[in-house]
Amino acid sequence: MKGKLLIFSAPSGSGKTTLLNHVMANIPEMAFSVSATTRPPRGEEVNGREYYFLSMDEFKKRVENGEFLEWEEVYPGRCYGTLLSVVEKMQDEGKHVAFDVDVCGGVNVKKHYGDQALSVFIQAPSVEVLRERLINRHTDSMEEIEKRLAKAAWEMEFAQGKFDRTVINDDLETAKREILEVVTDFINGQVAEPDENVL
Ligand code: ADP
Ligand code: 5GP
Repeated sequence: MKGKLLIFSAPSGSGKTTLLNHVMANIPEMAFSVSATTRPPRGEEVNGREYYFLSMDEFKKRVENGEFLEWEEVYPGRCYGTLLSVVEKMQDEGKHVAFDVDVCGGVNVKKHYGDQALSVFIQAPSVEVLRERLINRHTDSMEEIEKRLAKAAWEMEFAQGKFDRTVINDDLETAKREILEVVTDFINGQVAEPDENVL
């Protein structure tokens, strides 16, 4: 039987990476879909682990070759995309696949896989909290942070009603518990209750 697909989307700074790492650490048969991006590596990021870091020319060539399941210019001049070969390889290995994609990518991947996939939107309490978290993360310039914040309100609005589940990341320990429960239930084939947070 093929593995399941877990899609995680959220505005930058919501805690998606933190929560996804928690899920991966607790579910060993889950593998991370390493995306391609044209943004440069930040902090300790390693090519092939967090992302495949490509030049814009390389990225465009792969788009033309039809190598992406989906791709988006998430921020001006910054493209991100899911490589079909990466997902297929992990599925062939019998893994569940976790996607970290923007809200448009999340909706597109869900459309592609239907009931085989669960889409989870991770929501921070407010844009102000996002700003604080991004500043405290010390990985992006103020210019880069402002670009991300400028998009965040739109992303939260766009996501309304489009995801299977919403997890609010206010208190981190609560959010970790909740996300692990949502993912475990889905993997074990339990039908999720309708999302109380979807308006
Ligand atoms: P994303 O992947 O969505 O951009 P991160 O997981 O990198 O977000 O989290 C952004 C920053 O906020 C990180 O420094 C992280 O340690 C911190 N963070 C995550 N969740 C919480 C939380 N519930 N409370 C306070 N800080 C948090
Ligand atoms: P970051 O630069 O903070 O790693 O990611 C910025 C945004 O790009 C995040 O919302 C992240 O989920 C999104 N992203 C990462 N990989 C992909 C991808 O393959 N496709 C899409 N559509 N978005 C992605």
